[in-house]
Amino acid sequence: TTFPADFAARTAASAALFERAKRSVPGGAGSTARLPRNGWEPYPLFIADGEGSRIRDVDGHEYIDYLLGLGPMILGHRHPGVTQAVVDAVRDLGTCFGLPYELEIEAAEKVVAAVPSLEQVRFTNSGSEAVGTAVRLARATTGRRLVVRFEGHYHGWQDTVYWSNHVDPHRAGPAAHPRPVAMGPGVPAELEDTLIVLSWNDPESFAALMAERGDEVAAVLTEPAVFNTGCILPEPGYLELLRELTRTHGAMLIFDEVITGFRFARGGAQEWFGIDPDLTTFAKGIGGGFPVAAVGGTREAMRLVADGTYSHSGTYNANVVQCAAVSATMDVLAQPGLYERQRALGDRLARGLEAIADENGVPAHVTGIGTVFQLWFTDREIRNWRDAAAHAREDVFTRWYQEMVVRGVLFHPLQFENLFVSLVHTDADIDETLNAASDAMRVVAR
Ligand code: PLP
Repeated sequence: TTFPADFAARTAASAALFERAKRSVPGGAGSTARLPRNGWEPYPLFIADGEGSRIRDVDGHEYIDYLLGLGPMILGHRHPGVTQAVVDAVRDLGTCFGLPYELEIEAAEKVVAAVPSLEQVRFTNSGSEAVGTAVRLARATTGRRLVVRFEGHYHGWQDTVYWSNHVDPHRAGPAAHPRPVAMGPGVPAELEDTLIVLSWNDPESFAALMAERGDEVAAVLTEPAVFNTGCILPEPGYLELLRELTRTHGAMLIFDEVITGFRFARGGAQEWFGIDPDLTTFAKGIGGGFPVAAVGGTREAMRLVADGTYSHSGTYNANVVQCAAVSATMDVLAQPGLYERQRALGDRLARGLEAIADENGVPAHVTGIGTVFQLWFTDREIRNWRDAAAHAREDVFTRWYQEMVVRGVLFHPLQFENLFVSLVHTDADIDETLNAASDAMRVVAR
């Protein structure tokens, strides 16, 4: 690799743990996303601990953390209030009853109060489970089979949706009529017939599809802003069109707010853009870093869940750790002025990075919303996956990530991911990051 020469010496303890891990953990890490092939070359950093906006690796280096556990740590690491609430609840109540209890209601009430379209919510364990639940519920409710989704979006690893995230455009065919492409082996090919995949931010192809097959569509599933292809915002009117045509054709609109939920506004993307979906999924962020996810919607959308016709089951659904974490996180997020302050901080970082790229003659621009964005290494506009695949300079991004990590700033190593600013990052963190960025960008520009 092109890694700065001192990387191997700096990370000897990580290298040793990786060798040890590979013997008992397949690939040496607990998720495919953490393997060298997904950017963590030549091996992932092994982490000792984290506190607030910082994490430390096993070689003792501290990093300003913009990875945030891939998103969940919106309150930083070891948030004192949330940690205490979970410890107290586990000590005083237990962990899992297989029956309902009052703290579950409290957590649900607070989530419903925070998110505009929600009247009811169920808790579960991961974003993938939440999306799987929403998709099957839409099919059960409408009695239809087709799900419309978009290239470059990611909705978790379940067979029904593990398609067309980042696939070579040559395999997917023309942008006007992409073919669904499974993201890996083991996904039954038969499921292709249950999906329609479209290019995002393309009102014409969506309107044409709905005109032709709208009455067969159970659900339109979308990230309301695409954070699984760097960061791509909806063009004016696009989400409105999704809302209008799903309503016209009796299809359900599902917002996958696993990343956007509670991220840059308490009510998520639906509050930010002013669009109410029928169903919403949440995960990263909702529990302040504890493993919990949720699926919710209007009372009407949750009707079959409420009457038991639709079986949303799960031994660990709404366990004590989850509900204590959600309840305490919702309390923190309700602080007045919190989001305004942190969006301004994120904007300062974004504008600063753009300026540094510009000063060094490196073509780059930022897209995002306050506390989550990406620095695209291209001056071409990115409206959807096809643009990203064609124009974004992944090689330049890799170099950038590498030069930043040796300067104590941790980003995700891939151009098609993004950079998270937590609700506890400070002005000092941003100053330090911009200082490191000035040095790193000079190297990138060479
Ligand atoms: N939906 C979106 C938008 C996501 O970004 C992710 C994870 O990255 C998921 C669903 C899946 O969530 P989980 O990894 O918790 O299963």
